[in-house]
Amino acid sequence: MSSEKDYESLLDDIYKKLPERTTGTGERFEMPRFDFFTEGNKTIIKNFKAVCDKIRRDPVLVSKHLSKEMAVPVEVVGERLVLQRKLTGDMVNRKLEEFVGKYVICKECNRPDTHLEDLGHRVRNLVCEACGARKAVR
Ligand SMILES: [Zn+2]
Repeated sequence: MSSEKDYESLLDDIYKKLPERTTGTGERFEMPRFDFFTEGNKTIIKNFKAVCDKIRRDPVLVSKHLSKEMAVPVEVVGERLVLQRKLTGDMVNRKLEEFVGKYVICKECNRPDTHLEDLGHRVRNLVCEACGARKAVR
């Protein structure tokens, strides 16, 4: 058994998994999507918690944003988000994309490896863990 060989095959595996480099766009970020259905006059997002985990944002923050953007009262129920209106089309996912574009993706390097710093007075800094950029968002 040769550990050196193992190391080489490990490196091979890593290189095989590396995405092809394209010019300047950085790594691809796969936009999560809400899985939802309507029930009576409500719209229920089934995977709300899972999406929040994926974009690493507080479900409370995401739910408040969606509520404000769509002028709909919302309630987090377990893993789900219940919106008190029947929403047609794919509005919830458009709003999710807007949220991610504003509060998750770094404007400098386009990566999603960021977190929010609360500065108070409803101002937050979007801090990029990849390139160190900071940008105030409201
Ligand atoms: Zn960055």
